[in-house]
Amino acid sequence: MTILTVTLNPAIDIAYQLDHLALGSMNRVSKLSKTAGGKGLNVSRVLDELGADVIATGFADRRLGTELIRELEGGGISCRFTRIIGRTRNCIAILHAGMQTEILEKGPTILKEEKEAFLQAFEKSLGDVEAITMSGSLPAGLDPDFYSQLVKLASQRNKPVLVDISGLALEALVNAEIKPTLIKPNIEEFSMLLGLEIGLENVKEALNEPLFDGIDWIVISLGKAGTIARVKGELYRVRIPEIAVINPVGSGDASVAGLAFGMTIGASIEDCLKLANVCGMLNAQEAQTGHINMEHFPELFEQIKVEKI
Ligand code: ADP
Repeated sequence: MTILTVTLNPAIDIAYQLDHLALGSMNRVSKLSKTAGGKGLNVSRVLDELGADVIATGFADRRLGTELIRELEGGGISCRFTRIIGRTRNCIAILHAGMQTEILEKGPTILKEEKEAFLQAFEKSLGDVEAITMSGSLPAGLDPDFYSQLVKLASQRNKPVLVDISGLALEALVNAEIKPTLIKPNIEEFSMLLGLEIGLENVKEALNEPLFDGIDWIVISLGKAGTIARVKGELYRVRIPEIAVINPVGSGDASVAGLAFGMTIGASIEDCLKLANVCGMLNAQEAQTGHINMEHFPELFEQIKVEKI
């Protein structure tokens, strides 16, 4: 069972830990980490930890991009990135006095010929996988409908596509003629898509909007409140137990990995939704973003309740 993960704008995530951030002055740092980052790479790592074979794809340069590929391959994830002339980005998080100050580079501009090379490689890879996940922002040089183009190619091969994106790219995706198999906005991203404040009181109504017709799985993640979803026309509410949270960043990505894994092994709808939540919770229980500890899997899985509403 192999899953293709698409990360079009990956990054080296740098975390600097300082006691105090001195603005306009020099800060020396000895506590730091540098890891391959980007939502799709979090999905890749969690899928690998679940036991799936993963092929990671996207755009990477020959400097930081090479570093990033080495790290993924070192962890047992196959890589098929299209090499680019623009520079793969760094994203910096400075942790100081209980705060997190982030400096996020925009990333490279993808050239036309690089885009064409990626599309060709993507189409070729479709024959080697059972499902595709796509996550995160689009780098400059790609139109907002780029994900829709990928969905179209995948659907021509009857491969399920799970998409976790937001903003204009999500808008273009849900309005396109060929629909993805699954979308997983969190409640804020879902509100933005519909242009109105969505909460638990009106989310059911929103899920039944004609805008989502043709999308089999609309999974709205609600952080510690679990998930609400419309799957093949039926509404589901997933309730989860309270847990001690260490770092919830990347929980949505872990949820996507859980869903892709469940769908690929042919799990029931209820079990796929449970998997999404177990993986999200397991990620939230770890300091490292996009990492789960499978030891705690069975006890959490048992405590999750799925009901049709
Ligand atoms: P995103 O990271 O995309 O914003 P969410 O924050 O909704 O996504 O998290 C995805 C899933 O991870 C949730 O549905 C839930 O199962 C789990 N999760 C996230 N935050 C928490 C939390 N604070 N406590 C328990 N589970 C959480």
